[in-house]
Amino acid sequence: MEKLNTLAIDIGHNVNFDTGAIGIRKEDELNMEVGKELIDKFKATNINVINCTPYNAISLHDSLNQRVVAANKGKADFFLSIHHNSCPGGRGAEGLCLTGGIAEQVGISILNEIEELGLYNRGIKNRRDLFVINQTIMPALLIECAFCDSESDMNGYNPERVAGAIFNGICNVFDIEKDLSGSFNENQVYYNVVKGDTLYKIAQKFNTTVESLVELNGIKDENLIYVGEDLRIK
Ligand SMILES: [Zn+2]
Repeated sequence: MEKLNTLAIDIGHNVNFDTGAIGIRKEDELNMEVGKELIDKFKATNINVINCTPYNAISLHDSLNQRVVAANKGKADFFLSIHHNSCPGGRGAEGLCLTGGIAEQVGISILNEIEELGLYNRGIKNRRDLFVINQTIMPALLIECAFCDSESDMNGYNPERVAGAIFNGICNVFDIEKDLSGSFNENQVYYNVVKGDTLYKIAQKFNTTVESLVELNGIKDENLIYVGEDLRIK
């Protein structure tokens, strides 16, 4: 069995400039329900989880970049992004990743579990064009759990059970100890400094303090931050 110490979980969209599809149900809400439940399930294991979902974003790129930076800087061994699809006539679950490695293996395992809930298995798609898959330095998988605009998918759709299926799918591949109190991470949040930012402005944006930012990032001169620098917020 493969080893997994730290899992990065990214709850798709859910911030400014990056909102999900709207179908019979809202993708944002479904992603959040599945993601939170999944994070909860890992609390009782020996796996360290980083929740990569940002609190705020100033652009789509910033939203995606914060997720990637949180996973990369947190040294996650695997990155999982939770989404729900939308397309007229579509139904079922699919996995998007670079095929041929562990991400595909985990994806197949998760889709088999989701299929058992009665959702159609659309299989794995090789996607080199997705930012979060490209820019993360560990194996990365994006799961589209179901179509939020499909009547058959959304009829009786149960995010809790889908989270359970994803959890089982991951546990089938990695050696995970269950029923532990676990060493659980706080959210790690990173922000990419843009022109015009000051520590004070960033602290206000994320509802934190300049002192906290200085301490988390080991900043020597609080008037000196650099455009493009990734600051840890939390
Ligand atoms: Zn999405």
